[in-house]
Amino acid sequence: MSMRAAINAKCRDCIYDPLAGGTWRAQTEACVDETCGLWPYRPRRTKRADDSAELAEKTEPEAEEEA
Ligand code: SF4
Repeated sequence: MSMRAAINAKCRDCIYDPLAGGTWRAQTEACVDETCGLWPYRPRRTKRADDSAELAEKTEPEAEEEA
């Protein structure tokens, strides 16, 4: 296991709540425990993932507003 994979696994195990909403990566990105030694190295969403999410928001139909 790589160091990156080990840190990701630790953070996911520490904070991920599948009932809380959001991906495990988004939840670890939102971690506020700056006293944790892994905090600067916690997994975060990639720019590519952010761009994809932004693109999806821009291309989603706004059908619910017309109901
Ligand atoms: S950085 Fe946050 S989520 Fe990751 S191990 Fe530390 S406290 Fe847990």
